[in-house]
Amino acid sequence: MTTTISTAPLGGPTLPQERRLVTSIPGPRSQELLARKAAAVAAGVGHTAPVHAVAAGGGVVVDADGNSLIDLGSGIAVTTVGNAHPKVVEAVQAQVAQFTHTCFMVSPYESYVAVAEALNRVTPGDHAKKSALFNSGAEAVENAVKIARKFTGKPAVVAFDHGYHGRTNLTMALTAKSMPYKSGFGPFAAEVYRAPLSYPFRDGLTGAEAAKKAISVIEKQVGAENLAAVIIEPIQGEGGFIVPADGFLPALVEWCRANGVVFIADEIQTGFARTGRMFASELFGIVPDLITTAKGIAGGLPLAAVTGRAEIMDASHAGGLGGTYGGNPVACAAALASIEVFETEGLAGRALEIETLLKARLSELQAGDARIGDIRGHGGMIAAEFVDPETNEPDAALTAAIAKACIAEGVIVLTCGTYGNVIRFLPPLSITDELLAEGLDVVAAALAAS
Ligand SMILES: *Cc1c(COP(=O)(O)O)cnc(C)c1O
Repeated sequence: MTTTISTAPLGGPTLPQERRLVTSIPGPRSQELLARKAAAVAAGVGHTAPVHAVAAGGGVVVDADGNSLIDLGSGIAVTTVGNAHPKVVEAVQAQVAQFTHTCFMVSPYESYVAVAEALNRVTPGDHAKKSALFNSGAEAVENAVKIARKFTGKPAVVAFDHGYHGRTNLTMALTAKSMPYKSGFGPFAAEVYRAPLSYPFRDGLTGAEAAKKAISVIEKQVGAENLAAVIIEPIQGEGGFIVPADGFLPALVEWCRANGVVFIADEIQTGFARTGRMFASELFGIVPDLITTAKGIAGGLPLAAVTGRAEIMDASHAGGLGGTYGGNPVACAAALASIEVFETEGLAGRALEIETLLKARLSELQAGDARIGDIRGHGGMIAAEFVDPETNEPDAALTAAIAKACIAEGVIVLTCGTYGNVIRFLPPLSITDELLAEGLDVVAAALAAS
């Protein structure tokens, strides 16, 4: 078996920041690797771009054929600090040479504690907080629910329409969309209920009206006396970058407080400067009881966390939380380096600059093309929703065609949305203005041609 790693350029910000196509996409080397993938990897594990990466950094991903693609997806909002960020690379290399694992539950180490301290400090609210670390977003969500149930002594959990919380059994139950996340994978975990979301573009409700509707469903179909937790993404990720109307989230938080229900903000996609704030909860003026984080936390290394009110986090008996790898020291080193980058390199401010560029260009496109029904989002988390201009019906076929055309032209874009009709822009915050503008030129051309 050969790999291309030895011949690949080093990643990080010193990679040439350019879109460069030297073959058609996919090129011959990627095609070869895709054939091996098809033969060796389970068919259920899909891919968006038909290339194989060998290096990435700044705002580009370089493939096995030497093509350099503009990255508008950050590996799904993960490489927010930039791929192979030098500070992350340095911290990882130092840690990996020291020790790779002891299991924090066997012999603890400082970096885990330091990550917990940092999370307790940077998450919203100045109350006493504690954290626990895990491997993936889904695992963090599972543990947030465990903690809320243990604290309240109640079983039920409410999630929302269009919500996405992961692919494990409990998190599939919490996730709204059947295809591709749930279909055929049941039966799902019990005591999960679904409430309507605020979706201003489609429901026309104010935040207060949408909250009233949701709370009525919760009270009538579940009852606060049975409800451990409400879990919601402050801005929905996979569900379509849906920004709830003002007042919706504060009303839910207030209802939870008044009714002994734990409010969990799933900030796995929105967290860590992505929305122009360290956490999206800040945009809405809410302070969650528990917050789940992952994706952007560690510059690409697998790490996740639950952070929240100390009295809730401490509800579990000793030994009740953990896992073999949770808070792996290499991932913790990467997280500490990333959090330092977020704070010292002004990445939240950079996300706001990216928002301005994205929204200006998309609005210009929308003015000339009624198929862009809505543009929304915050910071480096912006989406365009594509519709039939006559009926406002979702246009998933158009959306897929645009995304496919962009990738063929060397721009990685991701789609999302319950109806598959949303293109989401999640560039690494290390992307240059020039590359972002060029990426949007390609999107504009793809739209015009579709
Ligand atoms: C990605 C995501 C998850 C799941 O995270 P994994 O690391 O893929 O398990 C959960 N919630 C939200 C909001 C996400 O975006």
